[in-house]
Amino acid sequence: MKISRQFTVFGSAIFCVVVFSLYLMLDHLQLDRIKNPINEERLQNGQLVILQDKIDHLERLLAENNKIIANIRDSVTNLRKSVNNDKGPLEAKNLSQGLVDLLPFAPIWVLIPSEDCQFSAQTYSKAADEVQMLDVYDMLSFDNPDGGVWKQGFDISYEENEWDQEPLQVVVVPHSHNDPGWLKTFDDYYRDQTQHILNNMVVKLHEDERRKMIWSEISYFSKWWNNIDIQKKDAVKKLIERGQLEMATGGWVMPDEANTHYFALIDQLLEGHQWLERNLGVKPKTAWAVDPFGHSPTQAYLFKQAGLSNMLIQRVHYSIKKHFATQKTLEFFWRQNWDQESSTDILCHMMPFYSYDVPHTCGPDPKICCQFDFKRLPGGRISCPWRIPPQVITSDNVQQRAHMLLDQYRKKSKLFMSKVVLAPLGDDFRYTDAQEWDQQFNNYQKLFDYMNSHPELNVQAQFGTISDYFEILRKVTGMDQAGMNKGVSPFPVLSGDFFTYADRDDHYWSGYFTSRPFYKRMDRMLESHLRAAEILYSLTLANIKMFGKPSNYPAVENYKLLTEARRNLGLFQHHDAITGTGKDWVVVDYGTRYIAFLLPLPVVVHCCRTILVSGDIENEWQLRFLVSFPMNVFIMPSFRSVVVYNPIEQARSSVISIYVTTPHIRVLTAQGRPVIAQITAVWEHFTQASTETLKLKENGLKHSIKVDFVWYGTTSNKDKSGAYLFLPDGEAKKYSPSRPPVIRVTKGPVFSEVTTTFTHITHTLRLYNIQGVDGQAVEICNTVDIRGEFNQEIAMRITSDINSMNRFFTDLNGFQVQPRRTMSKLPLQANFYPMTSMAYLEDSNRRLTLLTAQSLGAASLKSGQLEVIMDRRLNQDDNRGLGQGVLDNKITANSFRLLLEPRNSRENNAPFSYPSLLSHISCTYLNHPLIQMATSVDPALLTPVPHSPLTSSFPCDIHLVNLRTIQSQVGGGPSEQAALILHRKGFDCGFSSRNTGLLCSTTRGKVLTKLKVSTFTPVSLSLMYESSSTPKHQEISLKPMEICTYRIQLG
Ligand SMILES: [Zn+2]
Repeated sequence: MKISRQFTVFGSAIFCVVVFSLYLMLDHLQLDRIKNPINEERLQNGQLVILQDKIDHLERLLAENNKIIANIRDSVTNLRKSVNNDKGPLEAKNLSQGLVDLLPFAPIWVLIPSEDCQFSAQTYSKAADEVQMLDVYDMLSFDNPDGGVWKQGFDISYEENEWDQEPLQVVVVPHSHNDPGWLKTFDDYYRDQTQHILNNMVVKLHEDERRKMIWSEISYFSKWWNNIDIQKKDAVKKLIERGQLEMATGGWVMPDEANTHYFALIDQLLEGHQWLERNLGVKPKTAWAVDPFGHSPTQAYLFKQAGLSNMLIQRVHYSIKKHFATQKTLEFFWRQNWDQESSTDILCHMMPFYSYDVPHTCGPDPKICCQFDFKRLPGGRISCPWRIPPQVITSDNVQQRAHMLLDQYRKKSKLFMSKVVLAPLGDDFRYTDAQEWDQQFNNYQKLFDYMNSHPELNVQAQFGTISDYFEILRKVTGMDQAGMNKGVSPFPVLSGDFFTYADRDDHYWSGYFTSRPFYKRMDRMLESHLRAAEILYSLTLANIKMFGKPSNYPAVENYKLLTEARRNLGLFQHHDAITGTGKDWVVVDYGTRYIAFLLPLPVVVHCCRTILVSGDIENEWQLRFLVSFPMNVFIMPSFRSVVVYNPIEQARSSVISIYVTTPHIRVLTAQGRPVIAQITAVWEHFTQASTETLKLKENGLKHSIKVDFVWYGTTSNKDKSGAYLFLPDGEAKKYSPSRPPVIRVTKGPVFSEVTTTFTHITHTLRLYNIQGVDGQAVEICNTVDIRGEFNQEIAMRITSDINSMNRFFTDLNGFQVQPRRTMSKLPLQANFYPMTSMAYLEDSNRRLTLLTAQSLGAASLKSGQLEVIMDRRLNQDDNRGLGQGVLDNKITANSFRLLLEPRNSRENNAPFSYPSLLSHISCTYLNHPLIQMATSVDPALLTPVPHSPLTSSFPCDIHLVNLRTIQSQVGGGPSEQAALILHRKGFDCGFSSRNTGLLCSTTRGKVLTKLKVSTFTPVSLSLMYESSSTPKHQEISLKPMEICTYRIQLG
């Protein structure tokens, strides 16, 4: 047997108590130590200081603890003798029996029924009418010829009599794009613009029932709702009843689709939909996403699962738009790559032109369309850059102006199959003042009245909502309204994604996949904490319901903390937040909200008390834990108990790291059995420099893998890299620091690691010597500091001998894997893709997977090579409206795991690919670390048996996305019900399932929970609809890749 099984904690339980009788270990992550604050920046921006101070505060807490440590060092020294006499050093041979009660033995083979392998092994057959985006990329030349007035398109012509039989129907959709933070903070935008838009909306829509408006950001809408009186609320409800106001999408924000994880995408959609249902009784039908920088099929899937019928997207590569426009395939059923039927289809409209502003929405010629943006009338604050201003519509000019506009509508209509044309009418933060409402609505109404009263024009023009448009479209094309059945529709089916977006020339938006990585990492950590708190909270409520204890549990207060946390997490999914594309002070505002968002953690503490403690010791119960980045627990003198919470649904063997104040430590289980521990120094400074050069090689399976670092500069052209764009100065240059690195090697029974410190990076490779999932992969941590640089981006490059050629794979939103092709016909920056949770390379024998704990941009520029941009420092704006560079870099710890798996799959060119089970579970471990809490409670008073609400692990392929208590109809507290959200992952069986350390099996998608559930109803993703079929109580069965939601009542 391979060494003894060594490590610290964890069986199948949700909780486990470990008693530390002295102490151990450090965490390998580094704090963001702001050693060299850039004073000028601090002076320039007071708000930055606030966030930095908060982070500094966390640091000070650490420092204070170090002082305490020094004070007690003497007493610890005295303890040393007795410890040494009492117990010898912990040796592996003494430990195996002590671990039995903590660790189930991992089976040698994972049990996988052959049916469970069929899904990933299915052969791909492309339907005749199917458009596969990988093929489109193959086919297009990506040239960029001048298309005339429609610069990125072509000349459009039509015959006058084309609409004689069937008139053109024009639906003009007024909209106002409200970013929850970008150039201003959420609150500042609300104060200066959003509240006025909404207030005027109530008045102006009531003035004329033909007027319409759509709204999509519930974060703003709910804030406004809380500030208006009952009369205004009634007026809003009336507008919704009449169909004048439509809530489109209904998410908390319009999320980014590249960096976001599906947990957070679902969470913010659910929060918005639940708010709408409670306050307005509204169920959104159509999704509206005009501004996210590229579009993901994951979002389409989630909309479909939530019960939406239609969606609209805008930011798609101009060459793809042009191609689809020539084919008239800008409207299609978006289908998931893995779906060989049609169950995931959702009707999607892709806007054809450059932008969602008025100049690019009425038709192909922005010079003309701008004249129909009446906010730009002469004398106003904005004008038309094409230098022909709009004219107020009068009886004198209406004929000429109507013909001009109709010409644009007709031309636009030629790009679509139906004779219905959609013309969005709005822009960022539009309709703020009453005058603007009048300008737009009055002038357009005159144009419509003219057109509609001239039958020879064969046009019917009107204001409409986005669902009005789809309703008409479905009607004229013979589809049913809900969209389950595409019937005789003329629309093709499309599969694949819309990354990487370019809006013009070689301006690819791949920079934001990495911009402000500190916050991308923070986002992921807080997602994990929120999920952990949500689950525990729901279980606690159930526990209280069953046993009535404790009676003083602050259920409502804790629920409000959770609600705040959900909303702040939701806000950060916005397409200028997690993307790293806001102004410095807006970034600080999000960061400050996130610090506040650590609030759900007390929920966990309260829950622990409730679940773990028996007897009347509540007053003595003091769970103490220190939250920092990373989260650590300090153990001080003598005797401490540590409660460990495993937030995932599988039994698990993982290492926890805890700061302790003496190296003389013993770790015992609650039953008093020893647990192996490793003590490692906390390194503050490097005392010795090594002259050896770095050489990292792993020689496990007759291959070598090299990790090194490279720099990208920015081009010398006029347009340079910024927060959005990546415009490098050619290929990367090798990172060669001026002074040799310091190399530190740590060896121990639990893990061994090599830490190499360069000027800009501290790079740690760690191997766990444990017979669990953690022992299967190399852990990589890069702490990056490029604050002193000028226009530089730093990347980690992993080079292997895997013959991957130009193929590689990146995930989308942690939900699915999208095959990629590196294409020489595209510029370097176009070959970077978002990597949310993993990227891999493979050939017929092996697969090399890089799992990531934060979203970053990744590429495979050469066969066998995988590259990840880790941080970017850019000294200029990239002309997308932000008006600044990215110079607020922080020291950022990026975490990864590298997994090499022998593979026996055959080559296939299917547009889908799946991770192995081991890779899935490793990713879950990486993103959901154990949560540890130190307590001063006498261990005798703690429940000695690990608490586990699950009698066994979930199947390996089933992930508990969330168990989220639903808000009560009134009062802001919890209801008796919770949303149970499960995801069955697709996995590839072509990998060895031998000795993976997995403590689970697969079960054909069946889940048996032993949770006591009194009601159980399958519902749509965001709880808007109940399933018509009511399966038997607790019989849960999921199809591969499926996400299912159940409304349950625990207890
Ligand atoms: Zn936006």
